[in-house]
Amino acid sequence: MTEAQLLRSYVNGAWRDGVRVVPDIDPTHPNEAVASSSLADASLVADAVTGAYAAYSKWRGTPAPSRGEILRRAADLVDGRANDIARDLTREEGKTFSEALGETQRAASTIRYYAAQTLEPDGDLYPSQKPGVHLYTRREPLGVVTAITPWNFPIMIPAWKIAPALAFGNTVVWKPAELTPLTATHLMKAFIDAGVPAGVLQLVLGSGSQIGDALVTHPRVAAVSFTGSNTVGRALQAKAVGARKAVQLELGGKNPAIVLADADLDMAADGVARGAFLSAGQKCTATSRVIVAREVLKPFLDRLVSRAETWKLGDPLEKDTVVSPLVSAEARQRVLAFIEGAQGEGARVAAGGGVLRGNDGFFVRPTVLVDVRPEHAVAREEVFGPVASLLPAASFDEALALANDTPFGLSASLYTRDLATAHRFADQAQAGIVLVNLETSAAEYHVPFGGIKDSGAGPHERGKAAREFLTQEKTVYINAS
Ligand code: ADP
Repeated sequence: MTEAQLLRSYVNGAWRDGVRVVPDIDPTHPNEAVASSSLADASLVADAVTGAYAAYSKWRGTPAPSRGEILRRAADLVDGRANDIARDLTREEGKTFSEALGETQRAASTIRYYAAQTLEPDGDLYPSQKPGVHLYTRREPLGVVTAITPWNFPIMIPAWKIAPALAFGNTVVWKPAELTPLTATHLMKAFIDAGVPAGVLQLVLGSGSQIGDALVTHPRVAAVSFTGSNTVGRALQAKAVGARKAVQLELGGKNPAIVLADADLDMAADGVARGAFLSAGQKCTATSRVIVAREVLKPFLDRLVSRAETWKLGDPLEKDTVVSPLVSAEARQRVLAFIEGAQGEGARVAAGGGVLRGNDGFFVRPTVLVDVRPEHAVAREEVFGPVASLLPAASFDEALALANDTPFGLSASLYTRDLATAHRFADQAQAGIVLVNLETSAAEYHVPFGGIKDSGAGPHERGKAAREFLTQEKTVYINAS
């Protein structure tokens, strides 16, 4: 794609201008625009929803395996274009090229997985209590699904919402995040080139606060799937439920990693550092609170600090870069404010703690905080930056209580060699995703993904779970005697 490219919405088979053009900024070189995008208004949203509704009955009537063939082609196109897509993803979002490439390839695998799901059973056959009655259930699409996606996984999250929605016969109106319109355009083009019919997938580029209501409350929208912040998600949920839509929310996390005294400390330090610092900590599953057995606090801290200080922070397109910039100037400001606020409350910076000097990209150095108290804001609120807060614990029970002491419940990990403790953790951790001797970030495409407590609402996404939200069940009795 060329520098000057103007990105636009794609509605009813045509690229459509919006009402306002904004630059798509490179977080590594903020003075350079990667592209610019033309933001839609509510009337374009209405066209998109109406068009998706008009396209629905034909798409629903298309045999599921034929829908799957189209998705399989889209997956192959994403794979074939993965290098170009990943480069643009890095340029507009800032994560390292290897992470961007991995994400793009996982997006392709996700789409391929849902292509295969179109061959799976979509109902159950039951014996009837009445003679001669054929009794079965079938899962049917909902209609028009609105997908609202964030910038931090700008191809994988859209893929895991759009692919199952289309596979199961829904049509989709998709609003990607304002910060990542170029990656969104790549994905849209793959679906178009694969043969998704006009109207079946509508791309609307726009500002959430300006077109959000139109996307969520339009009478022709049946369901809304949202991934993003808790503030926006909960407000959107109230509106959508009020308008009688089905709602699925994937929200934030405050994910703990517990390091017990018997853990392999090198493995634990690697997992915690990866979870806290990769993608500059901008993952809803990022490791944020590190709860460490007192007796190994010092050796663990040394290991974590050494990683924070030696992992290369820099240009995400360079091969040896491990830690990348934050997505925007606002994000950087927010993260720095958390670090300063923590210091004001008595925490100490053991590594990092500021910007990358001599660089105008949105870099924050990987940061390790000690002397953090559970009540400090940095230990309670989602930071979304490369910041690990260490909290000591005297026992597994105390560690578990600290881990669960949060309104969030997305992912939680434990480092131990003790099998019984591992199983107890799996049972008692209050999180939708639990990991032992692995970092808190995990999202394999064929298993469910989602949080509990304040980290989400509605059925989980991914794997077979996707069918539950994106279809509705019908029970059929046929007396053919
Ligand atoms: P983040 O902190 O990841 O930017 P947001 O919740 O602000 O999280 O954004 C996630 C997605 O929600 C983006 O696509 C954004 O445009 C969209 N969004 C923001 N505000 C609204 C809103 N009021 N209604 C609907 N969508 C919104």
